[in-house]
Order: sequence, then C-alpha cells, then structure tokens
Amino acid sequence: MRSIFLLLIISLLTNCSVSGQITDPKATEVHHPVPKVVKPGDGTAPPSDAIVLFDGKNFNEWTSIKDNAPVKWTLKDSAMTVLGGSGNIKTKRQFADVQLHLEFRTPAVVKGKGQLRGNSGVFLQERYEVQVLDNHENGTYPNGQAGSVYKQYIPLVNACKKPGEWQTYDIIYTAPKFNKDGIRVSAGRLTVLQNNILVQNNIEIQGTTEYIGLPKNIAHGKASIMLQDHGDLVSYRNVWIREL
Ligand code: MG
Repeated sequence: MRSIFLLLIISLLTNCSVSGQITDPKATEVHHPVPKVVKPGDGTAPPSDAIVLFDGKNFNEWTSIKDNAPVKWTLKDSAMTVLGGSGNIKTKRQFADVQLHLEFRTPAVVKGKGQLRGNSGVFLQERYEVQVLDNHENGTYPNGQAGSVYKQYIPLVNACKKPGEWQTYDIIYTAPKFNKDGIRVSAGRLTVLQNNILVQNNIEIQGTTEYIGLPKNIAHGKASIMLQDHGDLVSYRNVWIREL
C-alpha cells in the first residue's frame, strides 16, 4: 500500500502515469530557443537574411580567380555570362555551411555535344563541383551530367529544361571538417534541387571533384563560391546565399 502511494506521488511529480507514459502534453513542449523571424522573398526575391551575391547590377561581390583581378564576364540584361577564356570567378566572401540559390541558363543556340554543350559549374568552397551542363536531349557520362556532383554522384533524375531557358539550383551544403593534423574527421554533404526537383539527397562528398583521378581531401577552412568558365556562354542571375 505504501509503495503504490509512493508511485503515485512520483508519477504526479514527473507527469507520468503509473504505467510510465507521459500524460501531460506540456511535458514534451520545448520553449527555447525561439527561431528568429526571416521574411520570405516575394516571387524570386531573396529572403530577408540572405547575402545577395548577384542581383544583376554589378560584380561587387565577385573577383576573377586569376590574380583576384576584376571580373571580365559579360554583364547584360540583369545576368552575367561566361566570357570564354577569362577564367572562373569566385565570391570575395568566404563561406562554410550554406544554403545557396542561383539561376543558370545554357545557351539557346546549341552547339557541341556531351560535355561540350553548355558546360559550367558551381563549386562549393572552390573545390566541390555541382555540374552545370545542357543535358536536354544530350547524353554524357551520368556522373558528369547536370545535377551531378562531378564524377562522384549521378543525379537522381534528369531535371533539365530546354537550352535557353532559366533554371534554378537550390543547394544545401555542409562543409567537411578537419582536425588539427589536417585529417578529415567528417565529410562534406550536399543536397541539391534543380528546378525544385531533388537531384542530390544529402550525399557524402568524397573529396575534391577532379576531372582526372580520384578525389583529394586536403584540409581547408572557409572558401569562396566559384563559377566555372568552361568556354560555353552559360549565364547566371539571382544568386543569394544564407550562412547556416
Ligand atoms: Mg563543369
């Protein structure tokens, strides 16, 4: 009798029934932290806490990777377009974990095939490429097609629009971590939506996305977002990023 009484007292104190089940809905509420308010953008506008990397007006946030010189890509009609041979461009700011949004467009005038049709790329931390390519009715090795993590992960589907049409990438990126000896202790991760369709689902990045050879894992800290000059007239617009 005395032990039942004790059990009842304990269950009252811990919001549990005698059988051990939680009975008070408040017992499982968590009140901190309260998420900060972020205002979503209207239409294609960035959310209120985004860093705008390109709004079609200037290259203020960008530099050429060649000697950090001013960007030579073409700025026209609120878009930037690769100027073949001028080199990759990268953000002046450096990032680790991010949510990245951008729009890209492969040339309406189709020429070349395979990897030579609308090739560019979005590099996270200057090392890990999400491929940009015109794969509308254009085949190539699947781990090198649009939406691939270049030569590491085939996209889940081919979500390409027609050449000349604007497309979106929404990328969630977790940077790899390295210990003080330069050993990678956790792999980077990528989730990618192309035109709102999931093409990479939280994949584990194997290392740098090499054209020739195997991925490398050399310790690094924060680094830029880089866009590739592969010689094709690929355009970009509406680029924004949120640090995570
Ligand atoms: Mg590429």
